[in-house]
Amino acid sequence: MIDLRSDTVTLPTPAMREAMARAPVGDDVYHEDPTVLELEARVAELLGKEDAVYVPSGTMSNQIALRTHTEPGDMAIMDASAHMVINEGGGAAALSGVTIVRMSGRAGIYGAADVEAALEVPHPFNPPNHAPRARIVCVENTHNSGGGTIWPLATLTAVAETARRNGLALHMDGARLWHASAASGVPERTFAEFFDTVSVCFSKGLGAPVGSALSGSRALITRARRFKQMYGGGFRQAGILAAGALHALDHHRDRLGEDVTHARLFAEALAGMDGVAVDLATVQSNIVRFEVTPMTAGDFVDRCRDRGVHMLPGGHHGVRAVMHLGVERADVDTALGVIRDVLGADEGP
Ligand SMILES: *Cc1c(COP(=O)(O)O)cnc(C)c1O
Repeated sequence: MIDLRSDTVTLPTPAMREAMARAPVGDDVYHEDPTVLELEARVAELLGKEDAVYVPSGTMSNQIALRTHTEPGDMAIMDASAHMVINEGGGAAALSGVTIVRMSGRAGIYGAADVEAALEVPHPFNPPNHAPRARIVCVENTHNSGGGTIWPLATLTAVAETARRNGLALHMDGARLWHASAASGVPERTFAEFFDTVSVCFSKGLGAPVGSALSGSRALITRARRFKQMYGGGFRQAGILAAGALHALDHHRDRLGEDVTHARLFAEALAGMDGVAVDLATVQSNIVRFEVTPMTAGDFVDRCRDRGVHMLPGGHHGVRAVMHLGVERADVDTALGVIRDVLGADEGP
């Protein structure tokens, strides 16, 4: 089976398992697991922040960040199709009590004018404390629903400037920040500079089995640790898992460009097939989102799966394919052959 559903399906390599087995461990809740501490220091250093906290998932990391920056009744600004909006079980409402103002970005990327438009314009004729307090702006980079799109630095600069001028905090969901950097050549810490907190995942394309980290200033991460404990994220001898993340940073980060190349090859071949619509402009990292026109996405992914290629449907005709550690160049060609077969599509000119 060629599994293109997600880059979370990557399995630990034998070398990673060995590193995990050898890891010195302690109790994370006592803040004394040496491997967790090493990972936290490494992430803080990589992202140019004072501190970082290792947590079990990217969802927990984002939700801790939201809770850290806000109080109930506050308002958060983010794209309507952000992971924090559509894939975190309503956590913003349930755990932080915040309302979300949803930006209608292009492929997940909105602009400073959109943020400005979402903010109240105070005037003495209007009563104070009527509107929810705008508190935070969140950016997802790369943007999953947008097709793995990367935020241009100019757009980030403008959004961040608007947020700062209005006294808002900034959080980046960088689940695939590693891919944004591998594809664009912009270092992670350059993207991170704009933000008070940055969340990164080790369990996606990096290929570690479990975990994410939230980074930021010492004060913010100290506060975040309180919510990590509150949400049940203290995970004892987590160094075994953290060792997988450290191994991934050392050995798998450099190969992410391969996934970007594979995604590009895959998308360009799809673009040449009848019955497929793909916006090549959104194919910027390791994710390819496309539409199949002759049948429903559900039928399409069922038939592909019967032939050994596993992909995710999204909506009536949308399909997602993600490149990762477990996908070789030959697998890309095989997958394309299966898709051609299923669609009855001839090769393009
Ligand atoms: C996967 C993902 C997350 C959450 O990570 P989990 O570890 O699956 O909870 C957050 N944001 C984005 C953009 C993601 O793709």
